[in-house]
Amino acid sequence: MIIAIDGPAGAGKSTVCRILAQKLGFLYLDTGAMYRALAWALLHEGGIPPVEEVALRLPLLPLEFSIGEKNLRILYDRKELAEELRGPQISDEASRISRLEPVRTFLLSCQRDLGRRGNVVAEGRDTATVVFPDADLKVFLTADLPTRIKRRREEYLQKGIQIPWEEMERQIRERDEADSRRTLAPLRPAVGALVVDTSDLNIDEVVELLAGEARKLGDG
Ligand code: C5P
Repeated sequence: MIIAIDGPAGAGKSTVCRILAQKLGFLYLDTGAMYRALAWALLHEGGIPPVEEVALRLPLLPLEFSIGEKNLRILYDRKELAEELRGPQISDEASRISRLEPVRTFLLSCQRDLGRRGNVVAEGRDTATVVFPDADLKVFLTADLPTRIKRRREEYLQKGIQIPWEEMERQIRERDEADSRRTLAPLRPAVGALVVDTSDLNIDEVVELLAGEARKLGDG
C-alpha cells in the first residue's frame, strides 16, 4: 500500500506522517528532506550552481538515499544528515532548487525506487500528483495560515530558534507561493485526494482519521 500526503508548510505533515507510518509499520518517506539534502550538499560544496550546471553536478554529489529501519536515511560522504537539514535557510534553498527540472527528475527516480518496496507513507508537495499518482490513499493536509505560523514557530522554538511572527508569516507565505505557482509539479491537491483541514484537529485526531482511511482500504 502507498499513502501519499501533500500539503503546504506547517500543516503538520511531518509529525502526522511519522506517527502514521509507525502505527501502520510502514516506511516514512520524507521527500522534502531529499530536496533539503540536495540544497545542503550544493551549498556545502560552494553554492547552488547555475541551472545549466545543476544536472551535471547532481550525480557527482556523494549523497546516498537509503532505507533505514523505518525511515529514509540520507548520507553525505557516508555521514548521516539530519538536523542540519532543518534550518530556515535550507527551507528556502530547497524551495528554490525544487523549481529546477533536473532536480525534480533526479529525485523523482530516487523516490520511485524507494517506493518500490511498498507499504510507504510518502510526504511532500507532489507525492500524490506526480511521484505516486496511483497511490492507494491520497491526502492533502492543510491548515489556515495563523495555525501554520504558530506551529512552525513552536517547532523552531523547541530547537532554540526564535522567529518573530511577521518573519515566520513572510517565510511561509513566500514558500507557499513559490511551491504553488511553479510550473513543474506545483503544490495542489491530487485528483481524488482527501482534503483534511487540520486547523482544529490535534495530531492524534489527524493520525486516527488517516489510519481509519487506510484500514478501510486494507479491509476492502
Ligand atoms: O516539506 P519540506 O518543508 O521539508 O520541503 C522543503 C521544500 O522542498 C518545499 O518547500 C518544496 O519547495 C520542496 N519539495 C518539493 N516537492 C516535494 C517535497 C518538497 O518541491 N515532494
